Amino acid sequence: MFITDAVGAAADPIADTPERQALREAVRAIVRDVAPPERRLPLDTAEQFDDELHAHLAKLGATSIGAHPEQGGEGNALDQLVVLEELAAGPTSMAVFMVVHYMGIEILSAHGSREQRDTWLAPLSAGDATMSFCLTEAGGGTDIARAMRTTARCDGGGWVIDGEKTWISGATRSDVYVVLARSADVAGSAIDGITMFLVPADTPGITVRELPTVAVHGFDTCQVTFDGVRVADDAVVGEVGRGFRQVLSVLNRERVNAAAGAIGAGRAAVEYAAAYAAERPAFGSTVGSFQAVQHRLVDAMVALEGARGLLARAAHAEVAGGRADILSSMAKLAASEAAVKATTTGMEILGGAGFSLEYPMQQWWRDVRLWVFAPLNNDMVRNHIAEQGFGLPRSF
Ligand SMILES: Cc1cc2nc3c(=O)[nH]c(=O)nc-3n(C[C@H](O)[C@H](O)[C@H](O)COP(=O)(O)OP(=O)(O)OC[C@H]3O[C@@H](n4cnc5c(N)ncnc54)[C@H](O)[C@@H]3O)c2cc1C
Repeated sequence: MFITDAVGAAADPIADTPERQALREAVRAIVRDVAPPERRLPLDTAEQFDDELHAHLAKLGATSIGAHPEQGGEGNALDQLVVLEELAAGPTSMAVFMVVHYMGIEILSAHGSREQRDTWLAPLSAGDATMSFCLTEAGGGTDIARAMRTTARCDGGGWVIDGEKTWISGATRSDVYVVLARSADVAGSAIDGITMFLVPADTPGITVRELPTVAVHGFDTCQVTFDGVRVADDAVVGEVGRGFRQVLSVLNRERVNAAAGAIGAGRAAVEYAAAYAAERPAFGSTVGSFQAVQHRLVDAMVALEGARGLLARAAHAEVAGGRADILSSMAKLAASEAAVKATTTGMEILGGAGFSLEYPMQQWWRDVRLWVFAPLNNDMVRNHIAEQGFGLPRSF
C-alpha cells in the first residue's frame, strides 16, 4: 500500500468531491490502459506525440475543462489539476501538452471574441484542434516583455507580424498559434504596447524548426519564424496593446497547473521507487528494508504532500475568486523543487535500473526539470513572493 492510498481519498484536498474522484479514476484508467510504460516509453524515445492517448482524453472531456460554457466547457481549476496530476504520473509529455492546452483555453475563454471562440475554442475544447503559445524569444525568456523583438505592424485593414519565437511547445503539429508581438513602443512600460494575435498555422510566412531537447520528448519544442505574416484585424485577441497584461491575468492557472504536473510525476517516482525497493533483494533482505532508503522515500513524499497542500489552497483561492498569486507561486516553487528531489531519490534507489530507458524513472527525472524554470523560473518566483508577500522592494 502506498502513502497516498493509506491517507485515503476522503482527505484529498484536490480531488475533493465524488465527481473529481471519479475524474481521477477515469484518467488513471486511461493512463493504465492506453499509456502503460511499455507503450509510452518507446514513444518517448521515438519523440512521438501520443495521438491515441489524446483522443481518449478528448472523449473523456478532459480537453474542455475550463473552457467557456458556450463552447462546451465545464469544470474549473481543481478539475484541471486532477487531470494533470494523473497524466504526469505516467506520460509526462501529455501533462506538458495539457498545461499548454489549458493556457490556450484560459486565454481564449477570458479574452477571445465570440467569433474567435466559435472558430478556435470550440475545436480546441473538443480535442479536434491543438494550439501553441508563442511568447518566448531567443533574446529573453524571463524578461521577455523588454526583450521582445517580434513586431506587429498595422497595415491598412490588417497586421503584418515579423520575428522569431523559441522554445514553443507543439508548434510542428498545432493548428493555431497565439502570438505575442510588439505593436507599439510605450514610454516607461515594457509590458504595454504588446498585442496578442490568433494566427492559423498554415498562414504564409510561418516556418517551424524542431529543437533537440533533453526531455519532454513526446511533445515537440520548436523555433517559429514569422516573416511578413499577414492577419486580419479580427486576429487580435482582446485589446490592442494589452496582450501581455491579458497573459498575466491567466498566469496563476499556468503556475498551479505546472505544480500539479510536478507533483504527479514526483509522486509516481516515489511510489515506483518504494515498490521497487520492496522487491529488490540485497544483503539477505530487500533494499526497502534499509532505514536510509526508507527515510529518503518518506522525506520525498512529505515534501510533495506539503507542496500539494499549498497547491490545493492556491486552487481553492482561485476558484473562490480570492487572491491566489502568492499561493500559486509558492505551490509552483515547492512542487517543482520537491519533484526534482523526489525523482533524484527515485533514480538513486533504482541504481542501474534508473539509467535504463526501459524503466519509467528516467523520464520523470528528466521531464520534471522543465517546471523549475517554466513557465517562470523559480528565482523569479521567489522575487515575486518577496515583493508581493513581504512588501520588500522589487529586486530585479
Ligand atoms: C521544453 C520547453 C517548452 C517551452 N514551451 C514554451 C511555450 O510553449 N511557449 C513559450 O512562450 N515559451 C516556452 N518555453 C520557454 C520558457 O517559458 C522559458 O525557458 C522560461 O520562461 C525561462 O526563460 P529562459 O529560458 O530564457 O531563461 P532566462 O530568462 O535566460 O533565465 C535563466 C536563469 O536566470 C535566472 N534569472 C533570470 N531572471 C532572474 C531574476 N530576475 N532574478 C533572479 N534570477 C533570474 C534564473 O535562474 C533563470 O532560470 C519552453 C521552454 C522549454 C525548455
